[in-house]
Amino acid sequence: MYPDVSLHINGQWTKGAEGKTEPVMNPATGEKIGSFACATKPDLDMALQAADDGFKVWKKTPADTRYKTLRKAADIIRSRADDIAKIMVQEQGKPLMEAKGETLLAGDIMDWFGEEARRTYGRVIPARGENIYQLVVKEPVGPVAAFTPWNFPINQAVRKVSAAIAAGCSIILKGPEDTPASCAELVKCYIEAGVPQGVLQLVYGNPAEISSYLIPHPVIRKITFTGSTPVGKQLASLAGLHMKRITMELGGHAPAIVFEDANVDQAVKVLFANKHRNAGQVCVAPTRFLVHEKVYGDFVQKYTESAKKLKVGDGLDKDTRMGPLVGPRRVDAMEAIVSDAVQKGAKIEAGGKRIGNKGSFFEPTVLTNINHDMKIMHEEPFGPLSPIMPFTSFDKVVEEANRLPYGLAAYAYTSSAKTAAAIGAAFESGMVSINHHGLALPEVPFGGVKDSGYGSEGGSEAIESYLNTKFISQLGL
Ligand code: NAD
Repeated sequence: MYPDVSLHINGQWTKGAEGKTEPVMNPATGEKIGSFACATKPDLDMALQAADDGFKVWKKTPADTRYKTLRKAADIIRSRADDIAKIMVQEQGKPLMEAKGETLLAGDIMDWFGEEARRTYGRVIPARGENIYQLVVKEPVGPVAAFTPWNFPINQAVRKVSAAIAAGCSIILKGPEDTPASCAELVKCYIEAGVPQGVLQLVYGNPAEISSYLIPHPVIRKITFTGSTPVGKQLASLAGLHMKRITMELGGHAPAIVFEDANVDQAVKVLFANKHRNAGQVCVAPTRFLVHEKVYGDFVQKYTESAKKLKVGDGLDKDTRMGPLVGPRRVDAMEAIVSDAVQKGAKIEAGGKRIGNKGSFFEPTVLTNINHDMKIMHEEPFGPLSPIMPFTSFDKVVEEANRLPYGLAAYAYTSSAKTAAAIGAAFESGMVSINHHGLALPEVPFGGVKDSGYGSEGGSEAIESYLNTKFISQLGL
């Protein structure tokens, strides 16, 4: 069963002022499975008023209560993981095991931010005069507007909502229209855990209309967005114009370097698995495979074998290891990138085309004979495409790894501690993982540099961007 999705405003689930709805499609079948309510201006005005009122209540709520509320929400989501995962698969397409993993991880993220709520410490600065107390205190920044995408309908939202709630902020979440129901199930967990009326609103609709209305609005004090770099730049410039705090988690084009002394089997296994998770629709997916010429042939052969064997299908089928892309527009994008690469000389080692004519399936695709004229070496592919290029020297591969304006994730495989240390230092990237895939846990920083954005959505850095620093100098009487 797939639930129709309502908006959540001021403690009420509502169909919206105009009763407007849009369909939700199952990407595995191409069929309509339900609908979601669309917010229009009167709904957004109500959401803004509620967020303003909710903030006044929540900022005064003790940190210990915020902690306990988030802990309770974590227990609720864990207890519902099986049901929520099934909903997610129907709207998003990923295999059931991945959807359940994402849902369970949301519990860990809620726990982490709940605990962070109790650690928003200030400090006392020694004064220059007697009887003066110089205090630094942390206060919630205010009502937040958050915009989250469809690739991880729960994971992208839970980080923002939990950080805001932990800090004492209220929030208006504009969830992902492609995958609205699992995000709404997440919101229910917070509400049932006791998040008061007005603190958390959920809206859907026309993303550009909603963001251009919420971002400049005086009630909103902070913007947080996850999505593509071009959209992120538009939203960041609007936020800048209105002097709003911003966190931006944007696109990437992650280099994955395999040095000549790497364990090639291990590199193939881990990189292949992480490339094809969520059908490659992951901002930290490895996307530029740079393999030392001495192990290039071996790597290409083993990687290609894995691609040919990968079981692609409906995410609800227990044998499926890769589901469909989120919709036809992403299949079109894959076709355009592959055809551009082939025209410019790429060789297709595996895949290269859509699968069947039902749903949005695309073959795991391995490309060699790659050059820099190809779009795939500039634009984030965001799908199951793996371009593999040979390299000859450390300096050349570092130059290639850092060539693009992106800087989100970067990977390397080597058995040399010296090379590992050197490449870790050389990557221009917000996150680096060497000899394994170790990113995106709640307790570690998550964020990019350069065009991949700024701010962190994990680790102890994450709550900081929801807090203001206030200095109080007090002369004792
Ligand atoms: P898109 O650029 O149309 O949308 C990306 C996301 O941004 C969606 O969630 C969309 O609702 C939102 N969005 C778009 N315009 C907006 C606006 N004016 N205001 C507020 N939100 C807005 O592309 P798409 O077809 O949905 O996805 C493809 C591209 O998006 C990918 O190539 C990838 O680069 C990027 N993407 C990145 C992430 C990520 O985790 N960083 C997630 C999803 C999509």
